[in-house]
Amino acid sequence: MGTGEGAGASSYRAPVADIVEALEAAGLWELLALPEFAHLDRPTVEQVVGEFGRFASEVIAPTDAAGDSTGSRRDDRGGVVTPPGFKEAYRRYVDGGWGGLQFPERYGGGGFPWAVAMALQEMFASANMALSINAALTHGAAELLLQWGDDRQRETYLPRLVSGHWPATMELTEPDAGSDLGALRTTATEGPDGRWRISGTKIFATWAEHDLADNIVHFVLARAAGAPAGTKGLSVFLVPKRLLGPSGEPGVANSLRCARVEEKLGIHASPTCVMEYDNASGELVGPLHGGLPAMFTMMNLARVSIGAEGPAVGERAYQQAYAYARARLQGRRPSTPPGERAPIIEHPDVARMLLQVRTLTLASRMVVYAASAERDMARYGAGEAERRSGEARFGLLVPIAKAWATDQGFLASSLALQVHGGSGYLEEAGVAQRLRDSRIGPIYEGTNGIQAIDLAVRKVSRDGGRVMRLLGDDIMATVKVLPLPELGPTAQALEEAHEALTEATAWVADRYTSSPDDVLAGATAYLQLAGATLGGWLMAKRALVARGEGLKGGAGAGEEGSRAKVAAGESNFFAVETLSDAPALLRRVTAGAGRLAPLRDWRPGPA
Ligand SMILES: Cc1cc2nc3c(=O)[nH]c(=O)nc-3n(C[C@H](O)[C@H](O)[C@H](O)COP(=O)(O)OP(=O)(O)OC[C@H]3O[C@@H](n4cnc5c(N)ncnc54)[C@H](O)[C@@H]3O)c2cc1C
Repeated sequence: MGTGEGAGASSYRAPVADIVEALEAAGLWELLALPEFAHLDRPTVEQVVGEFGRFASEVIAPTDAAGDSTGSRRDDRGGVVTPPGFKEAYRRYVDGGWGGLQFPERYGGGGFPWAVAMALQEMFASANMALSINAALTHGAAELLLQWGDDRQRETYLPRLVSGHWPATMELTEPDAGSDLGALRTTATEGPDGRWRISGTKIFATWAEHDLADNIVHFVLARAAGAPAGTKGLSVFLVPKRLLGPSGEPGVANSLRCARVEEKLGIHASPTCVMEYDNASGELVGPLHGGLPAMFTMMNLARVSIGAEGPAVGERAYQQAYAYARARLQGRRPSTPPGERAPIIEHPDVARMLLQVRTLTLASRMVVYAASAERDMARYGAGEAERRSGEARFGLLVPIAKAWATDQGFLASSLALQVHGGSGYLEEAGVAQRLRDSRIGPIYEGTNGIQAIDLAVRKVSRDGGRVMRLLGDDIMATVKVLPLPELGPTAQALEEAHEALTEATAWVADRYTSSPDDVLAGATAYLQLAGATLGGWLMAKRALVARGEGLKGGAGAGEEGSRAKVAAGESNFFAVETLSDAPALLRRVTAGAGRLAPLRDWRPGPA
């Protein structure tokens, strides 16, 4: 039975074999060799992925369609009521201990790598993207406290965040401060008791009010009285929905409220709140006026989790489109028996779309896992050099994982909808929800345009392209060992893409100081080039993993071919359909800002 066979509009089957294989291609073996993870082995990882996969498919996924149609709603008293089934599913997630796989055991976590936790996060998002964001934010907040909180804060809050008993939020955005955080106005004033009073309005605050838990821990970026202007004057404050009583349990309500829940295109079950803080009681986390680096601890991880939404939505859309394409009969093929019609999957153009959805999903999944694995290396690498390399590569990969993967997720859901023809445009088929849900990925957690600038300017220009070049060396090392002719198209396209990326990197690094606008105008193309090249590299590595293991069965393996053959074919398909854009992307990177002149010179005509 192929992946997704029998998948109805609302069902999801976790692709456990694909996920474990993707983890292997993205560096699982290197992680399991680290002393920190000596207690783990591949079977344990496979077991955890399999168990959570079952939980996501059987418990979480059934809540997804109702979440979309009902949405989370604000009630008359300012509370937010989640859709039917959410409370029960979330309770089972917490009770099952799934919230804290990647956190230290001393706080109730499982001591697993972030990379494995990211695989779980992806399955969560496939099953119900709207609900999964609550978990992603809570993970980011827990990491923020782990790194920047004091002992008391860690002891008080971490066990509750790690278990998911108290979910967390990340509140940066204000009406006048979106991409430009330096403009934010929320204030914090220190009281005589050492606690801070927070006042202001936050917008677009995800899961900032709901009925899933008896407390919510808000992480609010604000400007303390007397702080310098701009981003250097920002601090992070922990502001609980209900203040803790003497025993540490939630007590009286804090002075904050959800003033509105927004109506929006997708992720209807994820409440997007306008939050008003009116002298709310909070505590400082990390250094005063040094909040941005602390917030970045949370944001970087949240960005990778948002990246995981790309393959998450792509996977579910693929399962739906594959099942549909096998069942829907239209037209004929030369092999169709007289008097019968062909399932549309047999038409080459439909097969192309399905393979495109599948390979974009596979590649973006591995880019996200590879970024997470570098995060683990940065933290637990065997020596100083390995940790520093992990840190630098993580920094480089975060914007790529976030932006490239979410772009592919949207493209994949659009193609999966196209496979359905007119039915896809109707809500009944369920694939329209994928398109609507996936559209947020390129916007929130820093738009993809902002990610591209982060990559080109902060990550590449600043170090003269050094870390990207080192990654390029690894890519070429893989090209050299690719078996021919099986992976011939992959080897050729990957070598060309590597060449284009090397040239683009040198250009970006050289050009930024003298002509920043030239680089900014091509930043998105640069990120797309980097994403496609990394994706192609990981597809090639996955094909090698499948060969080495001689894996059989599971998604994608047909009776006639081994899994290795399918993986090689998928890599070659990606090389032809996606990686071959590399030379065109290089031209777009280096075209300069002059091409934007028509917009500057254009004027609207008379009405
Ligand atoms: C559903 C949803 C949930 C969200 N959840 C949260 C949350 O939980 N917490 C939170 O703090 N925020 C949240 N956000 C806010 C989100 O992160 C912002 O919307 C996003 O960062 C963009 O900010 P903005 O909307 O103000 O757009 P703007 O900053 O006004 O950007 C508009 C456009 O201009 C571009 N642009 C802006 N500045 C530049 C620049 N310097 N160079 C190049 N291009 C630029 C952007 O890329 C974008 O295309 C959420 C948003 C939505 C829609």
